[in-house]
Amino acid sequence: MADTVETDPEFPIPYLGRSVRIVGPVVNVDMNQSPHPKNQRGELGKALFNWYHNSVSKDPLTRVSAPNHFADRRNFIATVINQATTGKVNAKRVPVSDAVAMTRHIKAVARYMGADVVAIARAHPTFMYAGSRYIQDGTAEDAYEKSTPEGLVRKFPYIIVATTAWDYDKLQAHRHFIGDAAYHVSQIKGHMILKALEGYIKELGYTALRGVVTPQAAAVASGVGELGRNGLIINKTYGARIHMPDPILTDLPLVSDEPVDIGVEDFCKICRKCAVNCPTNSITFGDKVAFNGVEKYKINWLTCYKLRPYVHDEWTSCLTCATVCPFTKPNTWWRSLAVWALHTCPIPARPLLVRALKAIDDRFWGVVSQKRVRWLDYDTGIKPGERACTVAGCTAAHEADGQSAKVVGDIGYYVPLKENTNRFVKRDG
Ligand code: SF4
Ligand code: SF4
Repeated sequence: MADTVETDPEFPIPYLGRSVRIVGPVVNVDMNQSPHPKNQRGELGKALFNWYHNSVSKDPLTRVSAPNHFADRRNFIATVINQATTGKVNAKRVPVSDAVAMTRHIKAVARYMGADVVAIARAHPTFMYAGSRYIQDGTAEDAYEKSTPEGLVRKFPYIIVATTAWDYDKLQAHRHFIGDAAYHVSQIKGHMILKALEGYIKELGYTALRGVVTPQAAAVASGVGELGRNGLIINKTYGARIHMPDPILTDLPLVSDEPVDIGVEDFCKICRKCAVNCPTNSITFGDKVAFNGVEKYKINWLTCYKLRPYVHDEWTSCLTCATVCPFTKPNTWWRSLAVWALHTCPIPARPLLVRALKAIDDRFWGVVSQKRVRWLDYDTGIKPGERACTVAGCTAAHEADGQSAKVVGDIGYYVPLKENTNRFVKRDG
């Protein structure tokens, strides 16, 4: 098993950049012990169980884009995509004589299919999930289901990370159905791209396994980004607004990318903006800890997750820690310049630069971003429950009497962060 990896010359400890370090034996993570499967089994309490299984969203966009809040499962396209029967590998394999050219090609294909970020990691046993594979369609034969992490890596040495970013302007309406839509619709695109890419690799005659690799490990190893204090991968172009979908493990001959240094490690030591704003106090103000052999900032996923049933009427996904992160900015020249400056600045001098950039960020974006956003039939200037829309004939939920809305200036109406915490603590007990 992978807890002997430190002494195994076949699998030397991988370098994961400056934000994450393997410092001891790593026990492979069992996907069945992650939040969603635990909740599906009712192990996280009644409120979360009911929220996950029995709550149809008031918002029609949420119903078709966020997992498990539909009136009919078949209207949710991610179910259709992910539960489709897995295809077979084409017996006529396309020979690959130039791994560099194939890497260039597969990245171009992924981008053409719609991926915003594509990178390749060299597989390592510690990146693999433990236990039996998570086969979503429940019908496919899986010859590799019983393979050990080491066995999988020997046979399939590469991981393809292909993902999407969600829209910056709509993200400003986080803790609102607008932010939810930006997040969930881009997530659906990610599902479609990965399914298409998986099929493409199989049609070339190579295996493409899903449900095998932990996405965050692959993301830092491949240089998609660094791991922040907020527990999110922070990318040099999009900051924290990228998804971490299920990567592809493959035997297609490729060349791996390297971890990156964009200054997240230095920024997080000083910034703490995500921890200040987290409505459930799930993000640490302290130092990194060693958890399961990995040194990183450890967020409390349980308290983060437990908030959800109590905000269901107004929004679905919190996203506060992604939105407030100074790296999450529109993709403009001044943002590229700031990241370039961090990247090229000698490490001992970075704290000074970080303090200057953080001061600029606080000055122009405030402690927490609150901006009025109008999109489709939604308007964050209106308190949820009074009227969710301003357009005649809209489909968004609103009061039956259509009472006139109180518009809250240019800031928009956002449920106060501490109000979120209070609801959660009081009702959960
Ligand atoms: S999603 Fe919200 S509750 Fe969860 S860690 Fe981020 S800020 Fe905190
Ligand atoms: S908000 Fe600040 S502390 Fe949090 S992840 Fe972003 S840079 Fe790091």
